[in-house]
Amino acid sequence: MSTKLQALVNGRVLERGDEGYDAARSVWNAMVDRRPRFIVQCRATSDVIAAVRFATEHALEIGVRCGGHGIVGHAVPDDGLMIDLRPMHDVHVDAERRRAHVQGGALLGALDLAAQSHGLATTAGNVSHTGVGGLTLGGGMGWLARQHGLACDNVVAFEVVTAAGEVLRASAESHPDLYWALRGGGGNFGVVTEFEFALHSEPGNAISAELHYPPHGARDAMRRWRDLAPDAPRQATMTAILGETVSLGLVWVGNPERGAGYIDDMAAALSAVSEPIARDIAPLSYLDLQTRDDDIEGHAWRRYWKGHYFAELGDDAIDAVLARDGDGPLNAEIQAYGGAIADVGDAETAFSHRETAFEFVAATKWTDPADDDQRVAAARAYAAPLAPFASGAYVNALTDEGDAGLTRAYTEHKLARLIAVKDAYDPANVFHLNQNIRPTVSRA
Ligand SMILES: Cc1cc2nc3c(=O)[nH]c(=O)nc-3n(C[C@H](O)[C@H](O)[C@H](O)COP(=O)(O)OP(=O)(O)OC[C@H]3O[C@@H](n4cnc5c(N)ncnc54)[C@H](O)[C@@H]3O)c2cc1C
Repeated sequence: MSTKLQALVNGRVLERGDEGYDAARSVWNAMVDRRPRFIVQCRATSDVIAAVRFATEHALEIGVRCGGHGIVGHAVPDDGLMIDLRPMHDVHVDAERRRAHVQGGALLGALDLAAQSHGLATTAGNVSHTGVGGLTLGGGMGWLARQHGLACDNVVAFEVVTAAGEVLRASAESHPDLYWALRGGGGNFGVVTEFEFALHSEPGNAISAELHYPPHGARDAMRRWRDLAPDAPRQATMTAILGETVSLGLVWVGNPERGAGYIDDMAAALSAVSEPIARDIAPLSYLDLQTRDDDIEGHAWRRYWKGHYFAELGDDAIDAVLARDGDGPLNAEIQAYGGAIADVGDAETAFSHRETAFEFVAATKWTDPADDDQRVAAARAYAAPLAPFASGAYVNALTDEGDAGLTRAYTEHKLARLIAVKDAYDPANVFHLNQNIRPTVSRA
């Protein structure tokens, strides 16, 4: 069967025992250890079409891999066919039109680098080895989002291979229902072989500012930090990191003098209620900002997350965030939304919860499989008391929650509309290894 498949595609087809097979099936989360029957290393859209058609003809489950950073590892199907898009990693910038044509397997670092070489950028996530594919299809939060919207808000067109093996262009003019669904609906509707992004002028100056507090002495400063968020300039994304210390601050992307002035004001406001034990304020280039967490968020660890969106972060919620017992390598990060994210009308994209004020993610990493249960339980135990304060969740931060997770990620109305688009483009649920929007037939 593999010879037949290999004859249909330009890229390599890998099976168990082939050189490169194990590297190709391993993803960011080392908990994911699945063995596809075939890995098709796609070189062109025609390879993707052939792989989709072959898989459907032979009833093989399809996993779609871009950066391999999906926490659940849906990209890797056990005994199925993995569409490995990584050889399709080109980024072409049209500086005059301010557009980036990004192949479906590109990583964020390639997009940032290509755009910045023209003094341009668009919203991308905070770790450069994350895939453009999964991040953008789920929404795509990043340091530029409060100025320019989520990554998905900047996509003007998608080239998509559908479940029927057809190539479509989805944009405001062409298949607008699909265009709507691809901006937040995840990998449910087809394989995106090219994203066309709008780019923005971005000279590339950033500042990172963190004021560190002891975990048990951070409450008042954190309330003050929270109060500053609604009026913060769009260049500022408020951040809180809860690790050995509680670090309150922001990331600034924009005019450095204005940034330094705003950071002084923020530091003065926080210090007035509670003096920090240390502070780190550092200017850096935008590209350095986009890669600074690459090592700490590196591969080969076992990982688990639990996330929430908060439309508001009340005093009780702050107390619950701070009530962590500091057990083991368990961290949480909070990032402010708002700004241009909330400018986009709720009905315009599948992405929900544009009213989000803050995103919370509890994350843990470890190496010994014997610790799996304990580490997963610790992250869940941290996030559970926060659930009553939550307004929803980010689809790209969902783990193993099934349909219950989908109802946290999408409003009822959006879910109904997503099911209608699924019915139109993938009624047999060919693309189901994802946070799955099941078509009507499989709901009966
Ligand atoms: C270290 C790290 C940092 C992160 N930082 C951020 C951040 O700053 N902002 C943010 O918003 N999110 C962030 N995330 C979450 C991230 O958006 C998701 O993990 C996302 O799924 C990663 O996409 P990927 O392409 O790397 O993963 P993959 O595992 O390759 O893909 C995940 C899923 O997306 C779908 N998919 C991927 N590419 C395509 C495609 N071309 N066509 C169709 N379907 C596709 C498939 O269903 C696939 O199973 C981060 C994750 C990690 C691990």
